[in-house]
Amino acid sequence: MLEITNLDVFYGKIHALRAVSLNVRQGEIVSLIGGNGAGKTTLLCAISGLIRASAGSISFAGADITRRAPERIVQDGCSHVPEGRLVFSPLSVADNLRLGAYGRSGPDARESAAEDLERILEMFPVLRERRRQAAGTLSGGEQQMLSIGRALMARPRMLLLDEPGMGLAPLVTREIFRHIVTLRDSLGLTVLLVEQNARRALKIADRGYVLETGRVTLTGQSRDLLANRDVQRAYLGRDIDV
Ligand code: ATP
Repeated sequence: MLEITNLDVFYGKIHALRAVSLNVRQGEIVSLIGGNGAGKTTLLCAISGLIRASAGSISFAGADITRRAPERIVQDGCSHVPEGRLVFSPLSVADNLRLGAYGRSGPDARESAAEDLERILEMFPVLRERRRQAAGTLSGGEQQMLSIGRALMARPRMLLLDEPGMGLAPLVTREIFRHIVTLRDSLGLTVLLVEQNARRALKIADRGYVLETGRVTLTGQSRDLLANRDVQRAYLGRDIDV
């Protein structure tokens, strides 16, 4: 579904990604772990077209999207849920969700968006309860569900999730992670997940990649990474909530 080959990204003189290669197969959950500043967010932004790579290639569902515009990449089926739950605060929950269908066109666009809205409210009952409430007044966990719901309104085949558990209480994060697994199991969604809590991310993922100062230093099945001494020392030692 996603194939990244030798990707390089610079911010001015800062070499943020160095010859990164990574792939995600259809229906997989793959987690990307790494310390602060390793380049995880940069990689997601490069995939979704928000940052341009200076070398290398990104292919999605068999097409080269390396230089494609972000809105086209969403239309092609790859949706990015950015870090920090960027909802439109003054707008209602329902309007935030409707905006996720913005790129949709055709005679039945409005009707199909209404159907999808209904499906998403079914998936996240708390959003239904609060559908008329301003998004900015939701709790952190509810805003995260709204961000994911909004991305789903674009009918993606693949979700890029940047730190969905950031700043949330452990119980709430666990609920969000349950939703991620359900999305894969019920809709067949493919997921690339960036998460600070490496243990939790690897527990729901099929495979993982370790990124260190812009390079992939290790990759493997999640269970092997969880058992790897270097990974344990660097990324799993401080996780108290498992
Ligand atoms: P974190 O877990 O702390 O969010 P990350 O792994 O997501 O980190 P990135 O945000 O991708 O890391 O940053 C990778 C490197 O690129 C860092 O050294 C960062 O300082 C640098 N960087 C990121 N964004 C910019 C920018 N807009 N301008 C300059 N440098 C940047």
